[in-house]
Amino acid sequence: MCGVFGVFNNPSASKMTFLGLHALQHRGQESAGIAVSDGYDINLKLGSGLVTKAIKESDLEELRGDIAIGHVRYSTAGGSNIKNIQPFFAHFFGGSFAIAHNGNLVNARDIRYELEKNGAIFRSTSDTEVFVHLIAKSKEPPPSHIMLHKNDVEFLPLVFSAMKKVKGAYSLTILREKQLIAIRDPYGFRPLVLGKNKTGSYFVASETCAFDIVDAEYLRDIKPGEVLVIDDAGMRSYFPFEHTEKAEKCIFEFVYFARPDSLIFNDYVYGIRKEMGRQLAREYPIDADCVVPVLDSGMLAAKGYSEESGIPLEIGLIRNHYVGRSFIQPTQEIRDLSVKLKLNPVKEVIEGKRIIVIDDSIVRGTTSKKIVNMLKKAGAKEIHMLISSPPVIAPCYYGIDTPTKEELIANQMSIDEIKEFIGCDSLHYLSLEGMIEAAGKEKGFCTACFTENYPVL
Ligand code: AMP
Repeated sequence: MCGVFGVFNNPSASKMTFLGLHALQHRGQESAGIAVSDGYDINLKLGSGLVTKAIKESDLEELRGDIAIGHVRYSTAGGSNIKNIQPFFAHFFGGSFAIAHNGNLVNARDIRYELEKNGAIFRSTSDTEVFVHLIAKSKEPPPSHIMLHKNDVEFLPLVFSAMKKVKGAYSLTILREKQLIAIRDPYGFRPLVLGKNKTGSYFVASETCAFDIVDAEYLRDIKPGEVLVIDDAGMRSYFPFEHTEKAEKCIFEFVYFARPDSLIFNDYVYGIRKEMGRQLAREYPIDADCVVPVLDSGMLAAKGYSEESGIPLEIGLIRNHYVGRSFIQPTQEIRDLSVKLKLNPVKEVIEGKRIIVIDDSIVRGTTSKKIVNMLKKAGAKEIHMLISSPPVIAPCYYGIDTPTKEELIANQMSIDEIKEFIGCDSLHYLSLEGMIEAAGKEKGFCTACFTENYPVL
């Protein structure tokens, strides 16, 4: 769970990156970093916490240059150690570069083991660092089907070779002294979009909400398997893999992760999330007085359910916006508390009512159990818990932070048992087919967290 950003040809590149990262803050709150190039040298600033804490205005004054990349991090591989804050920067025989990664490599441990056995020294525990080593060490010529522009003959063969060695999910921005490079893995697990503003600056970001904040227009998605280079000679695309893989876009981006004002995977998150709620209403029509969303993540599915069923939407749970997402604190005890910190029922709406509560997902079950408890205390007559995705039964190995299999409630209990555990009157999950249909089945989705069908291991 991370967000990446990049900008080319902008005199305020680091400030633009700061703004872009701020818009991507929901993708990672643990740390943030910016790397900028003035055409000769790359400088960077890294810090822990939210973007506004990690990077100060005075830092931005010092980060001068026209090309920049940035990263917001929520640790999946490697833990939350300060050494893992990205972008990573490296000098090598061909110059220097910085790299920011969203995703998760499934074979990073094996590659790292091999490299370390041969004397490589790693400075972090992050899977992203294997990219840095592979790029610096590669010796292979570029694939024979590729004709390289003269600006790309030195560095890109190293990148292609690294891409062929790693397996898994990666949406990357790479900064070189005079280039911005954007890369998406051949399955296209994580989103990555390209944009441009009126003054001719190019932008790359995990989601288009980062373009809105810098006044840039969405041009297109970076394609699965694409390596896009932007420099003074223009923009060039390469596809180092000869075969195209079946698309495996992360459906959980549409369910939960991406911001609803974003366009990703060539589609608007808002409409899809609402359609998931409509589909839920078609699959589970329930006689009730109101539909209550679990804010913010359940809002659009609840709106869709309400529109499709004709049952009024009521904001029966108020969210306190001064706390982060409820997963952010690592221990169970604090996680339990933080649900209460975040949500509080509106007695006036709840008392004596038959309520449909809608959330996007149940992971450990902590949130739903607390919510049902709160609603009961507030006097709800019936509580029907509806979830706009299927049961999460398996961990994600491609960049979404999910707990171990044992901690996933749907892996340990049947739906009936979960219903008992949560304490609601009924519990229903959107079907897998219904979810895929709502998201657009032609797109090609990774559904591993719901099905255990892992496309790459
Ligand atoms: P839980 O209490 O473990 O069942 O968590 C469910 C809540 O966490 C739901 O409200 C989801 O919106 C949210 N959620 C789902 N997946 C994630 C994730 N990977 N990271 C943080 N929050 C999540």
